[in-house]
Amino acid sequence: MPAEKTYDTVIRGGLVADVVNSSFSAVNIGIEGEHITRVTPSGITGKAEIDAAGLVVSPGFVDFHSHVDGNLYSAECMARQGGTTTIGGERNLNSRVIHRIHEEGFLINQGFAVSHSFVLRNAAGVMPNEPATAQQVRAMADLASRFMEQGAFGIAFGLELVPGTSYEEIRRLSEVAQSYDRPILVHLRKDGWEALQCFDEIIRVCGETGVRAQILQLLYMVGIGGAMDSALTIMDKARAKGLDITADTGLYDAFSVCIGTGVFDDGWEKEYGGASVKDLLISSGIYVGSYCDEERFQLLRREYPETLISAFVCDSDAIRMPLKKDYVFVSTNAADGPHYMNVGAPEISGTFPRLLGRHVRERGDISMMDALKKITILPARRYGIDGVGSIEEGKAADIVIFDADRIIDNADFVDRGRPDAPPDGIPYVLINGKIVVRDGRLTDNRNSGRLLMKWN
Ligand SMILES: [Zn+2]
Repeated sequence: MPAEKTYDTVIRGGLVADVVNSSFSAVNIGIEGEHITRVTPSGITGKAEIDAAGLVVSPGFVDFHSHVDGNLYSAECMARQGGTTTIGGERNLNSRVIHRIHEEGFLINQGFAVSHSFVLRNAAGVMPNEPATAQQVRAMADLASRFMEQGAFGIAFGLELVPGTSYEEIRRLSEVAQSYDRPILVHLRKDGWEALQCFDEIIRVCGETGVRAQILQLLYMVGIGGAMDSALTIMDKARAKGLDITADTGLYDAFSVCIGTGVFDDGWEKEYGGASVKDLLISSGIYVGSYCDEERFQLLRREYPETLISAFVCDSDAIRMPLKKDYVFVSTNAADGPHYMNVGAPEISGTFPRLLGRHVRERGDISMMDALKKITILPARRYGIDGVGSIEEGKAADIVIFDADRIIDNADFVDRGRPDAPPDGIPYVLINGKIVVRDGRLTDNRNSGRLLMKWN
């Protein structure tokens, strides 16, 4: 008999989540180099072994939408909550950062979409309130094509911040995305009840171009003033007609954004169901931890527009509604705006353990398997990232090992806790075969992640 093979790392004794077949099974995992090369009920041995008895072994969590964008501290928080892959670029596509990740690696796997509303429009010289000319639309389409050829995962629209955008502009760029088989990622023009009509142009562009569309951060757009239910009905109907529209959502009743953005332009209080400056928690900078009053709101808008705000305007009871839909994934939206030690918002450290601890175990809003799919295989497939999102032979060895009885988020908003507090119940995280979290703490591996690029 040939000697039994020795793997680089073996994870033994855990309950492994098979998110492709929706089952859990007691199998061992053999890892060689960066890949899973064996999944077997048989005993196997490794140079390093992880005892996962009593624990769940899941594919690494895939964050459909974040603003980590190459920031190491954000990635450290993300890794500790099990995030192994994230797609960003919705606001910035910094070629220096992309180059660095390509050359040196990064803590987690990082991919990028290209932003229509910042990158493409800026390059074409279009002001936010202006419609683009035909020539400018052509320039944007050409540039978008180049980004697609360089591996961008889609085209992101932040329509609220560029109200001059015409339907024709959306349509032309959707044609580009579709020609490369990439999705468009959409923040609608308005939030709350006004968002409901804004679905029309997205549904229309899906029908006319065949593009697949992702509505980003559903809770923060329509979990306001009771509009969530109607929004889900609109999406159900569009999908029943065969249109490929999906969404992702966060799990906190406050969204976070810099105070200087167009989100807080005149009339914002009405759009957010009668909100006021008193609902705005200052989450970075000189007044961190306090709520706005009119004077501070104006001062920060004028002098410190990069100040991060957590806006408590979402309906708490709307958080669980989209979780019931199989076409809604969970994403963090983390690290939009300043984010460093003890500053920012809790999505960066809490979203995934909150889903599995609070919504699965404590409240029973969703099953463990359905929850895991929303943060593994479903977002990976939506972007067409073939190598991650499931535990199968040949896939990247991106793995999260957690205690289903203990996993919980500890992160909180700055007025009541630390936004970057690490969760409980996630002893191990592996990225491309390297252990990046051991016993709940980061190891010295800081470049096990890679730049992800989408190729046809
Ligand atoms: Zn975002």
